[in-house]
Amino acid sequence: MNKQVKLECFCGKLKGTLQVASNKPSFHVECLCCDCQNFAAYLKQENRILDKYGSTELFQTYPSYIEFSEGSEQIACVKLTEKGLMRWYASCCNSPIANTMSSSKIPFAGISVKLMKFESETEKESTLGPVIMKAFAKYAIGSKPQGSIDRFPLSFIPKILTFMAKGFLGRKYTPHPFFKQGTPVSLPKVLNP
Ligand SMILES: [Zn+2]
Ligand SMILES: [Zn+2]
Repeated sequence: MNKQVKLECFCGKLKGTLQVASNKPSFHVECLCCDCQNFAAYLKQENRILDKYGSTELFQTYPSYIEFSEGSEQIACVKLTEKGLMRWYASCCNSPIANTMSSSKIPFAGISVKLMKFESETEKESTLGPVIMKAFAKYAIGSKPQGSIDRFPLSFIPKILTFMAKGFLGRKYTPHPFFKQGTPVSLPKVLNP
């Protein structure tokens, strides 16, 4: 059964929904990498986005499962470097939205859990499942969170490959919330060209 999660930026101008398909692969993860921390710093929202270890909570899913119903003109994009991920955010209040590749034809989006509305932590966990990976803990602030690993776990690669293969077969990159006819809905600003 599919579940619908309400999406809303911090100020409420951007609204949408995320479909969580219970029988499809998706990953509830935490990323401690310096790029995710730098993105939070760029948005000047470290206190709202990062936990005390500097971790960003993400849900890796397919672009076609994300849809915006209101305020899509607020969608903006930065890249930390030319080759980096596209990091989407709401320009009205600097809410993080999601990370994607630079192509409209890749079935991958890491959506920020901060954009999701849940009644409780219990509802969040029953919808998204538990956090299954805490990666790049070598960049953790202070101590490392329990159950984290220093880099990206090799054991995760086959899962990602299966996820991508299913995504390509099912064309789960279309419709894409951040691209129209292959063009980004907002041109990315490159911070360190
Ligand atoms: Zn907003
Ligand atoms: Zn990261």
